[in-house]
Amino acid sequence: MLIDKEGRKITKLRVSLTDKCNLRCHYCMPVDQTFMDESKYLSPDEIVSVVSELKELGLQEVRLTGGEPLMRKSFPEIVEKLAALNLKKLSLTTNAIFLDRYLALLKDHRVFHLNVSLDSLDPENFKKITHGNHFEKVISNIRAAVSMGFSVKLNAVMMKGINDHEVNQFVKFSEDESVEVRFLELMKIGYARSNQSETFVSARDLIRNIQNEFQLKAITSPLDSTSFNFVTENGGQIGFIASESEPFCGHCSRWRLSADGILRACLFKDEGLDIKVRDRSVIYQELLGMKPTHRISEVSHTMNAIGG
Ligand code: SAM
Ligand code: SF4
Repeated sequence: MLIDKEGRKITKLRVSLTDKCNLRCHYCMPVDQTFMDESKYLSPDEIVSVVSELKELGLQEVRLTGGEPLMRKSFPEIVEKLAALNLKKLSLTTNAIFLDRYLALLKDHRVFHLNVSLDSLDPENFKKITHGNHFEKVISNIRAAVSMGFSVKLNAVMMKGINDHEVNQFVKFSEDESVEVRFLELMKIGYARSNQSETFVSARDLIRNIQNEFQLKAITSPLDSTSFNFVTENGGQIGFIASESEPFCGHCSRWRLSADGILRACLFKDEGLDIKVRDRSVIYQELLGMKPTHRISEVSHTMNAIGG
């Protein structure tokens, strides 16, 4: 079993399928971002083999991410093969631009939990933040997923003076559209570090603003949950991922696998271990000792490269 000295059990893996993306969210990557050569990607069989070994050691959940995971050409093959492992949960984080192409495949393989990034409910602001003109497509794909019975959580990174004025519209969106909205604090990762302190808005400040308009009732979350959660009077579901102001390292149960096969014990750790070059059973044991006990304050690598 994968349990470290702090008693933290590794049950969840984020698997990045590519560092490429069809958006350029300004806190994540610049417009002229360069990407890794596709020849470096782990093959679908290599990904499945690592997940299968980790499952034997107690892994329960895999979330596919990126970059934009739906840009990986072998996405259908990867989903089919991972679904055959019968994990407790297989889920996806996506910007939803290509989601309509894959909803049937995801449903067939019981990938029912979708996290969709959406930082603005205003088409112009969406364009400013993402450098992409895909707002209508994203909204219609979210609605299509909800109508097909998927559980959809929106991830909105809240930034002062950029989209924090939309916070109550997001709460209303949750009430109206049967999606949970999770507000993320902007983390000091990669490109976000340049103006993180000027645009940072804490979860507690957001909650205070929301409470001027909505009544919030706290609900309990699992111990290793990254979010703390509330419901509104009208059934809206909202959560807060306060990674900066209220880090959750003490109960973290996650490892991350990058598209080129670097396994990391923490999003904020630059160092990882290359699963292609050494005996993997040794790597898994070594990685257990690499999970920090306290929050590392910042990291230069970018979120799309590690897998958000
Ligand atoms: N492209 C997919 C998407 O956007 O959902 C998956 C990858 S993206 C890196 C995963 C999540 O990380 C997104 O919700 C994004 O907003 C979030 N993210 C990226 N950089 C971040 C940062 N510096 N702080 C907080 N969240 C960040
Ligand atoms: Fe792409 Fe997701 Fe990064 Fe935005 S946050 S640029 S959608 S990887």
